[in-house]
Parts: sequence; C-alpha cells; structure tokens
Amino acid sequence: MTDLSYKDWKSKAAALKFRNQCFISGTFCDAISGAKFETLNPATGAVLTAVARGNGDDIDRAVKSARSAFDSGVWSGKTPSERKEVLLKLAALIRDNIPEFALLDTLDMGKLIKDSSTVDAPGSAHFFQWHAEAIDKLYDEIAPTGGRDIAMIRRVPLGVVGAVVPWNFPLDMATWKLAPALATGNSVVLKPAEQSPLSALFLAELAVEAGLPDGVLNVVPGYGQDAGQALGRHDDVDCLVFTGSTAVGKLFQRYAGESNMKQVWLETGGKSPNIIFPDADLDAAADMAAFGIFFNQGEVCSANSRLLVHASIKDEMLERMKTRAEAITPGDPLDPASTLGAMVDKSHTDTVMQFIESGRQSSRLITGGERVTLNGSDAFVTPTIFDNVESNHKIARDEIFGPVLAVQTFNSDDEAIAMANDTVYGLAASVWTKDLSRALGVSDALNAGTVSVNTVDALSAMTPFGGMKQSGYGRDLSIHAFDKYTALKTTWIRY
Ligand code: NAP
Ligand code: MG
Repeated sequence: MTDLSYKDWKSKAAALKFRNQCFISGTFCDAISGAKFETLNPATGAVLTAVARGNGDDIDRAVKSARSAFDSGVWSGKTPSERKEVLLKLAALIRDNIPEFALLDTLDMGKLIKDSSTVDAPGSAHFFQWHAEAIDKLYDEIAPTGGRDIAMIRRVPLGVVGAVVPWNFPLDMATWKLAPALATGNSVVLKPAEQSPLSALFLAELAVEAGLPDGVLNVVPGYGQDAGQALGRHDDVDCLVFTGSTAVGKLFQRYAGESNMKQVWLETGGKSPNIIFPDADLDAAADMAAFGIFFNQGEVCSANSRLLVHASIKDEMLERMKTRAEAITPGDPLDPASTLGAMVDKSHTDTVMQFIESGRQSSRLITGGERVTLNGSDAFVTPTIFDNVESNHKIARDEIFGPVLAVQTFNSDDEAIAMANDTVYGLAASVWTKDLSRALGVSDALNAGTVSVNTVDALSAMTPFGGMKQSGYGRDLSIHAFDKYTALKTTWIRY
C-alpha cells in the first residue's frame, strides 16, 4: 500500500466510517447502560468517535452469547477443514481492506501509516491464514498401551475464551489471540484497549461476513477496570488470554483465583537487552538497534530498550546510534514519508517524559529527550539515547514503552550476560557477534523467550512468541499457540 500518497491517505481518512458499538451475537449494539467513551487521534487530539462503553453487564451478555454458540456446536462442532475455509475467507477479506485497517489503527493510536499498511494489516491477514492452514494438519494421538485397549488423546477446545489486548498493535494483538482460539473451535469475547477499539470492531464484522456464526466472536469495548475485570472474573469464561503490562497481568491471575480458576495466559512487559560484541558488524548492528528501539515509537513489548556495548567499541557505536536516531523525526503518521508517529496518548507521553527526566538526572543524554508539538498535539517524543546508564537506574529497570534507549557498557562475556539477565523481564534479547560459539553460548545463557543473533526482534508466524520470568508465560504464534486454546482429552476404549 506504499503507492498511496499523503493526499490519498488524508482523503481516505476523511471518508472513513467507524464501527463504534459493542459487537455481540453477530450484531452491533449499544452498551446496556447507554454509556460511551471517546476515542481520540493522538496525532491531532481530534475525537474520532464515541464508542459504546461496555461494562460487566455487556460482558455477561457477550459471554452468554459465546457460550450458547459454543454449546450449539455451530462452530465448535465443525471439522477443522470447515473452520479453515471460514478463516481463510476472513484472511482474504482483511487483505481486501488493508487501507481501511491501516487507517483505523493509525488514526486511533498514532502509528505510522507506512507501518500499519505494510506490517500490521497484512500481518493480521497472514496470521489468520497461517493458523487456518495449520489447523487441519494436526493429528491427535493414540497412546502405546498395547493389549485390548485404545487410549485416544485428542485436543478439544476449551469453550469460551476471554481476550484482553493492548493498544500498541491493536489489530495484530487481537489477531494473535483470535486466530488460534477460533481455529481450534472456541468462542471468544474480546476486549480491545480503550485507546484503540476501532479495528477490532471492523474485524468482527468481517468475520461474520466470512461465515463465522453469530456469537462465536464478540467484541466489547470499554475500560479495563470494568469490562476487562468483568471478563477476568466471569465464572463462565474458561480461559483468559492477555497481552499488556505485567501489573495488569498479575491482576488477571488474581481475578482467576478469586473466581472460577480459569486458565490465564499472559504476554506482558519487557526490557530487552541488545548485546554488541567488538567483532560485530557495527553498521548493521546500529541500523537494527535503532529499529529495535524506535520502531512504533518504542511502543513494542519486545523493544530492545537496553543497548549493552563492549567498552572497546562504545564510542564508535554511540556515534552511529546518534546519527541514526537523529535521522528519525516526528511527523504526521498519515504521511508515508514520516519516520516517527505519535505516542498513543497524552498521558503516556507524560509518563515517557518523566522517564526522560529521570534519565537526565542519572545519566548522560546523547540525543533527543524532547517533547514536540505537531498539528496541535504534543504527543510526540524525539528518539532519545542515554549513555552511562547503570543497572540500578530507573531507565535501565522499568519498561518505558517509548523511544528511549539506555546504553550500558561491559568488559567481558560474563559481565554482558549478568547485565542482560539483571531484570525481572525475559521476553527477548539480541546478540551481535561473528563468533558462532560466542553467539550460541551467550544465547543459551540469556533468560528470554526469543534470542535474535545478528538481527533484532526476529518474529514469524512459524515461531512461538512469549516470555520468561515476569514477561509472562504461554506462547502466541506457531503450532504451539494451539496449546493455550485446547485441553488434552483422553478416551479409553477396551475391546
Ligand atoms: P495495560 O494497561 O496492561 O492494558 C492492557 C489491557 O488490559 C487493556 O485492554 C486494558 O484496558 C486492560 N486493563 C487495564 N487495567 C485493567 C484491569 N484493572 N483489569 C482488567 N483489564 C485491565 O497495558 P497497555 O498500557 O495497554 O500496553 C502496554 C503494555 O503491554 C506494555 O507493558 C507492553 O510490554 C505490553 N505488551 C506486551 C506484549 C507481549 O506480547 N508480551 C505485546 C504488546 C504489549 P484499557 O486500557 O482499555 O482500560
Ligand atoms: Mg484512540
């Protein structure tokens, strides 16, 4: 979609229609209370639309709808091949509507249209397609009991899945949950983030157009504290999948423990280290290190927010990083030539600026650190690099979720490993070296769900994505994602 010009995107944006109600039982409806909340475009501050503000009553209605769809067998009883056909149609419909999906996410949360139209929206189609194609290629098992017994071990869907997702990749985070949950035959109630509910509502409409029966996918926009909590505490939800902050992930564990002990799968925060050894290709490392922290305004759970550089190459590396950071400047997200979009909202921008202030106190600012006003919105932050960061500094410990890089130096492999693992998180890590033994040795020693060697943030539908430690547990993507949405059921037959 890179062939659309700035003018094209602006005129498409002006003509865009927003779905802004709850989607329950295959139709759009207001919240039972009639309440609404406004969703804004952070790049201008403009109100896009007032969206139905679901609460516990709407969640209950959506769960009942999901349960009755599940129990009826209208989706759960379909064969994997039949489900595949519907989800492939959905993937095709998403592909037919890439500009619209790209605009919905860009307008709703400030990411670059360049990225939403080439990464997020095509990615969603791809992930639906991948899980659809995989589902009728999974075989069940027969245990090697011998004798006159057959013990069949089958994957069965769980029932009603609740999904609560964040705003940084609104369409894709929803897709990562929905594609495997639906492919395995579950019904779902999805609560998108309050900052970015619009693409999920369009997705639900297209799912029904693709042939997904009513009630199998329900979307209830609303606030985490009411709609999100109600889903987490609902006694008829079998499984709750979540992507978001570690603090809220812990709340979902509590909600489950205080209600029906539903399964909870968490993808939470990160503070991923990117380790640069002296033998690395420094130009390539700098290109990817800049991408690793500044892509999507740094609002990436696996962002490489800590750059650990060997002392002997620190100056060379810092110089390269400074040049790259300064080539990235805030611009209108709708302009395909822009290199950095808006932060998701004012309040998150305030938070990021507080971290920058803390960095100014503790460390040495190399570049950036500025809040910028564009088109009437001050939700823009310039790419920021701090040097002389110590492991106990706030900017080295906390997830900032903004374009802020903390640089630390090490003198030995062991020191690099210890520094990299000195965090409560364990989502991702990167290692740059031409030495294969060092690459493998260091990778083995890192506590991270994904280690990328001589690249950053490597990711594919084919590989599991998720964390260790307080970055959560359970995996999105790949065949392993199906594990979260199915139970193993054993049936013995004696003959
Ligand atoms: P967040 O505050 O945890 O919100 C995530 C979702 O949880 C939103 O839908 C939110 O609702 C809901 N929520 C908030 N408070 C809740 C509560 N008390 N009870 C139930 N639900 C509640 O996270 P965020 O600020 O949107 O997203 C940024 C975080 O997501 C970062 O920490 C990032 O690392 C993480 N993330 C992780 C991954 C991963 O795969 N590991 C991927 C992307 C993002 P509302 O916001 O609508 O109120
Ligand atoms: Mg918004």
